[in-house]
Amino acid sequence: MNSTSAQHDTFVIERRLASSPARVFAAFADQKKKARWFGCVDGWEVAEHTLDFRVGGREVWRGGPPGDTPHRNDTYYHDIVPDERIVWSYAMQVAGMEGEPERLPAAKPPLDFHMAIDQATGIISGKWRDDSYPLPRFLWCNFTLTDSAMHEGGPHSEIAAASIRDSDARLGEILDAVERAGILDDTAFVLVADHGMEENDPAVNGDWDVPLKESGLTFRDEAYGFVYLGVS
Ligand SMILES: [Zn+2]
Repeated sequence: MNSTSAQHDTFVIERRLASSPARVFAAFADQKKKARWFGCVDGWEVAEHTLDFRVGGREVWRGGPPGDTPHRNDTYYHDIVPDERIVWSYAMQVAGMEGEPERLPAAKPPLDFHMAIDQATGIISGKWRDDSYPLPRFLWCNFTLTDSAMHEGGPHSEIAAASIRDSDARLGEILDAVERAGILDDTAFVLVADHGMEENDPAVNGDWDVPLKESGLTFRDEAYGFVYLGVS
């Protein structure tokens, strides 16, 4: 049995470009302009670069070092607002995929794509992708959406509220799958979180240690919020 698993995480890349939004947009939308910066590695050959830049369209880039490992990049466009926004997802393959584009994973809009749910509900149902699974004795699902959204907008933002609604719906899908499997009464659910959040005043900062030392107290400062008085 060949099983693969996915680890999901979130990261943010910010770039400020010294150019107008229209020019930057054109650098993505126009194949000739995009070819000037996309997939160009010194010494690599480009075997194919086609760009169907519209919602639902696809971009294919194939190439690599001559006579060596072929690379392939398939990009799918999900949302386009001229000069403002481009939402896409892509699958990048290194070697072994030449002539087999149908094996590439069907791209779904990234906004509703969450492998944890597909995987968890599939495994609970007894089948996920091409493999069969026994009922799990322990299943762990990681939801990163609330953390990402609250870091992005703060704990009381609209995006934070939306992330809670979305995560709540995802939990509901798991509960439904457990119920369908007939094991709801035999299953214990444990819900844990990594950390909470509160809004603070960015102007108020500094270190506990300074006023505590000035006051002559004996203390040990282990980390934020963990100050032990009377010990050193
Ligand atoms: Zn966090």
